[in-house]
Amino acid sequence: MRRVVFLGPPGAGKGTQAARCAREQNLPHIATGDLLRQNVESGTPLGCKAKAFMDRGELVPDDLVIGMVDARLGHRDGVEGFLLDGYPRSVPQAEALDRTLRDRRVSLDGVLYFGVAPETLVERLGGRRTCRACKANYHVRFLPPKVPGVCDCGGDLVVREDDRPEAVRRRLDVYRDQTASLVAHYRARSVLHDVDAGGAPDAVAAQVARILDGQVRKARP
Ligand code: AMP
Repeated sequence: MRRVVFLGPPGAGKGTQAARCAREQNLPHIATGDLLRQNVESGTPLGCKAKAFMDRGELVPDDLVIGMVDARLGHRDGVEGFLLDGYPRSVPQAEALDRTLRDRRVSLDGVLYFGVAPETLVERLGGRRTCRACKANYHVRFLPPKVPGVCDCGGDLVVREDDRPEAVRRRLDVYRDQTASLVAHYRARSVLHDVDAGGAPDAVAAQVARILDGQVRKARP
């Protein structure tokens, strides 16, 4: 599988798995949250418009995100495949992705749905720490750095603005209201694969690798 979407609620571990899997499969890792945060840090017009939505834990408006992803998918490194992490997150985004791929005469090979119990999501997001420098994610208990509070690259570990309790609650509501319906959307099209994302990172990574290597049959609609 070379054209893949990682779908699931915030805190399901998509970002951690996507970074690892993109390295192993040699695919460009296109994470809309990372792209948006880069825009915010660089103070681009897109970043200035997106920041308030992100800090509140809401979705950045579709037109902004769709334009950003279309531009990114147009890069040469995405011609042979890509791993989309955190996109699409709404029905209009899924429809836009379909149109973009159809225009390029390609289609999605698979959508991996990272399913996790709600209590686990809250626990994971509450303990998440992110490196200010290299943006790597850790968890104080489940995926600690070698030295507490310091990234293995030497950078400072911080709590992301939208990992604070109020924003976490909002992000989970937004997922339920705007993103969760994409599971049925892709299942009906027979491209969905379920990943049990409640386990340890290595166990989840093994499931992901089996699916991408084509050793697991597609979920039935
Ligand atoms: P993430 O790093 O994937 O948790 O994304 C962080 C934040 O970026 C989200 O809470 C949204 O505010 C924004 N964001 C990321 N991806 C999207 C998307 N596909 N559509 C709209 N907003 C997004």
